[in-house]
Amino acid sequence: MKQFDKAALRKEVRARKKKFSTEELIEQSRPIIEHVLGHPRLKESKTVLLYNSLPDEVYTHDLIQQLHTDGKTVLLPVVISDTEMELRLYHGSEAFETSTYGILEPTGEAFTDFSSIDFALIPGMAFDAQRNRLGRGKGYYDRFLPLLTNAYKLGICFPFQFLPSIPTEETDIKVDECISILQCIL
Ligand code: ADP
Ligand code: MG
Repeated sequence: MKQFDKAALRKEVRARKKKFSTEELIEQSRPIIEHVLGHPRLKESKTVLLYNSLPDEVYTHDLIQQLHTDGKTVLLPVVISDTEMELRLYHGSEAFETSTYGILEPTGEAFTDFSSIDFALIPGMAFDAQRNRLGRGKGYYDRFLPLLTNAYKLGICFPFQFLPSIPTEETDIKVDECISILQCIL
């Protein structure tokens, strides 16, 4: 039943996303990313997990480059099987290949010192005010986030992805905070 509810919400969010072009979504991403850059937990962090955005996600490509240039240790997730992700060090934009999902992924060695990660930026199909997260339905982050014992988990999403309530199961992992553009304006 819950899986059905989640599927219906994913469908609703996909329909909402379709109302905007990729360029409009990049534009809507700017204030969100500005807010992320000003976040005290990011400022004081040394090792950060980011994600490489797909066209329908909050745009992170410039953020990745900027934090790398700032001297932070930047990690990106790479999908390695139907249930697992691994983390890889980002060494700069030249060391990328396109995955089967169309995501730009860093080549190179896996990063496994999970407890050293201070800050994690988490994408989602939707978030709610109870800090619940709805993903794309594979549970990658639910399996992965428990390993990040010291990371501040910051979810980001567009305002139309911020929902009144998301159905959850025991395995769903909350974020510590979620930023959408509405909170940036307030
Ligand atoms: P998402 O988090 O991507 O929205 P779901 O929360 O619906 O996806 O999870 C997808 C599937 O993965 C579900 O069948 C869920 O029970 C399973 N799952 C999630 N976390 C775990 C876990 N830690 N161990 C085993 N299965 C898990
Ligand atoms: Mg989940």
